[in-house]
Amino acid sequence: MSSPRLVVRLDIDTIACMHPGVDGLLSLARENDVKFSFFVNMGRAISYSAIIRKLVSKSNKDNQVVKLSSVDKLGFGGVLKTLLFNSKVGLSHPQMLHKIVREGHDLGLHGGKNHGTWQHNARSWGKTKLKEEVEWGFNAMTQIGLPAPNLFCSPGFTTHPDLEVVLAELGFLALADDHLEGAKLISPSLRVKDFKRINTTMLGQPGAVGYVENSMASVLFPDDVAIKVKKSFMQGDAVLYDHPCLVGRHGLDRLSAIIKVWLGLGGQVVPLRNLIEK
Ligand SMILES: [Zn+2]
Repeated sequence: MSSPRLVVRLDIDTIACMHPGVDGLLSLARENDVKFSFFVNMGRAISYSAIIRKLVSKSNKDNQVVKLSSVDKLGFGGVLKTLLFNSKVGLSHPQMLHKIVREGHDLGLHGGKNHGTWQHNARSWGKTKLKEEVEWGFNAMTQIGLPAPNLFCSPGFTTHPDLEVVLAELGFLALADDHLEGAKLISPSLRVKDFKRINTTMLGQPGAVGYVENSMASVLFPDDVAIKVKKSFMQGDAVLYDHPCLVGRHGLDRLSAIIKVWLGLGGQVVPLRNLIEK
């Protein structure tokens, strides 16, 4: 068996994920001579109407696994900035995005005009509305001079049934919306020829929470995390999921330790594009 490859998938959802989150991760990647896979939300982070609906609703199904609060993840300033300004995350930080690309990391697209709206409503959209949203994100990237994205993941893992078709029409190669433990890492799309589905395997379940976030919220000791990482390594290639607002700041040491365990076992840390190019 060739040495297992670890993809570190980092979704940039909010302004706090962009800054100071990304800088710390770019340094960590340089120190370890590895590349990550970032996915950027070019639009706004939150939908005020979805927040109100959630506050009013008694349902608490998002809290299925131990996770950190928004203040723990984004910092108080980050929460305040997001709530007050809710600026367009990617569009307001073109230089940071160019830096990610220049340093050789993947930069995929994460949703359309609004992360919260996609997460809560996308399944009920028609195909035209879905395409308009993806095109908006795609154009937001290319109009600031970034390469056309070819990797996509949906906010909140909310997958529209026509998404693969729409993505393929726009030249995307893969969708990273699956998160099934023990399933294959890459599978061909059942609907679209030459299109791939990526399974994110290292995350907190159920509820798809960041891997480091879940280990911090569960108060796991670094040795316990190392045992979990070794177990994943023994199973082969893996995709680890988290957010720069956490792993680029308070979780940086923990992510660094995970990468060192993986490399120490003889594995590689590679961008997602390496897994789909073959
Ligand atoms: Zn997200």
